[in-house]
Amino acid sequence: MKVLVIGAGVVGALAARELVRYGLEVTIVERMPDPGMGVTRANSAIVHAGYDDPPGTLRAELCSLGNALFEKVCEELDVEFKRVGSLVVAFDERELKRLEELLRQGGKNKVPKLCVVERQRLLEMEPRLNSKAVAALFAPTAGITEPWMLAIAAVENAVANGAKFMPNTEVVGFEVAKGRIRRVITTAGAIEADLVVNAAGLHADEVAALAGVQHPPIHPRKGEYILIDKAAGKIVHRVIFPTPTERSKGVLVLPTVDDGTLLGPNAVDLERNRKHDLRTTAQGLREVQEKSLQLVPELPFHRTIRTFAGLRPETPQKDFYISAETDPWGFINLGGMRSPGLTAAPAIAEYLVEYLLPERLNIRLSENKGFNPKHHRIEHPAGDTARKWDAMIEKDPSWGRIVCVCNEVTEAEIREAIRRGAKTLDGIKFRTRAMFGRCQGGFCATRVLKILSEELGIPLEKLEKSVNGSWILNGPVRGDLP
Ligand SMILES: Cc1cc2nc3c(=O)[nH]c(=O)nc-3n(C[C@H](O)[C@H](O)[C@H](O)COP(=O)(O)OP(=O)(O)OC[C@H]3O[C@@H](n4cnc5c(N)ncnc54)[C@H](O)[C@@H]3O)c2cc1C
Repeated sequence: MKVLVIGAGVVGALAARELVRYGLEVTIVERMPDPGMGVTRANSAIVHAGYDDPPGTLRAELCSLGNALFEKVCEELDVEFKRVGSLVVAFDERELKRLEELLRQGGKNKVPKLCVVERQRLLEMEPRLNSKAVAALFAPTAGITEPWMLAIAAVENAVANGAKFMPNTEVVGFEVAKGRIRRVITTAGAIEADLVVNAAGLHADEVAALAGVQHPPIHPRKGEYILIDKAAGKIVHRVIFPTPTERSKGVLVLPTVDDGTLLGPNAVDLERNRKHDLRTTAQGLREVQEKSLQLVPELPFHRTIRTFAGLRPETPQKDFYISAETDPWGFINLGGMRSPGLTAAPAIAEYLVEYLLPERLNIRLSENKGFNPKHHRIEHPAGDTARKWDAMIEKDPSWGRIVCVCNEVTEAEIREAIRRGAKTLDGIKFRTRAMFGRCQGGFCATRVLKILSEELGIPLEKLEKSVNGSWILNGPVRGDLP
């Protein structure tokens, strides 16, 4: 049976990998040059514990299940995951009451080890927290990860097990006859498919409409962030939330997997036609600064290395929109993936093969015994012993040539990222962490460009940062790049 997965964000990528595990013939189409470059690229990267989703919703059920699956999926795919825990901080009696509600809700959602910690213990746990805090809800099972790497690794693993990945390919229509999808029309031609999995993130409503399928309208809710360099040292050890409101979980202070500190996001609703508006704003960043200072009163903003924005795919229902359609038969929606979509993604992939396909579409599946769940990240010798690194250099001197000084990324790592499919600066950045550090590419981007140009045989001025048309140079380079 042929399945076409539309969208290689974390939801589509993990779903595709699960479908391959069950022996289906899978093609993944992605309109960007790489997996994980949509909503998955810019979010808080938290694996939520699961206490703040209303019991009985798909969000609550799949968040708890997804959290429990995270260790295994990240271990198999060799992706960073740290169960650092989270704290929801209360500053007065009213907020304390809300913590108690969240504690009860967490119990209903079967969140393990949830408890309220009093002020003294809290300040021992997080010495830089605002000392006016009165208590916090502690969820030891919350964690942090690298969402984009999860999507990249899942696609690479699906491909290693037989799936086909088509980057730079956009779905633009469907041929439907006698209640079934016959062909999916893409910018790279028509593709035959028996089943279609719509995991198109912010655009899932538009993709569903192309097939004549219902999907609640999606509007983007922007969240802006400030990233502080790891040189500032550890500011907090856990994910620190304020007490949440109806609209959002609030502006947080949290560690990143590579020891930086992330502040944000705010929440600003945009019109439906602004699904590409990833601009940060002075007002939004000021709001992030002010609100994060309420949690941690001293923050080294002078160590800021990047600001960025992400867009949440919001629907009026506020729940995930997951459906297996029978008209046209075999059209599956994995839409409305607001937070905690990242956390839930491994559970959504299981829900697809264990419930939607067998129970809703009556498709019998059996596990492909030859499926190899293991994926290996690109080696990063700077994290190894000097002896191991020396041995690697002996075999290939490019392991000894550091291109990105901030994160000590070697030329060999960059060449390997290109071999694995990176065609843009961001493709390399998100696979290797080159240009991810303090200089944000200020010093190394030209060297990365040179390697990219050499490996792909593409002139420098044709190379792009990320999406189509995001050229870096506006004409031929005279002389040599530094
Ligand atoms: C500010 C913010 C903070 C968040 N924080 C968290 C958090 O801490 N924890 C958590 O669990 N969740 C969080 N989330 C939610 C989480 O990021 C998303 O639920 C998740 O990334 C959604 O993944 P996806 O695969 O559905 O969407 P995407 O990553 O957007 O993937 C969809 C893909 O489909 C592609 N596509 C679209 N249309 C087409 C087409 N016509 N043809 C081909 N391809 C197409 C897109 O290019 C895209 O790559 C947050 C989200 C935001 C924005």
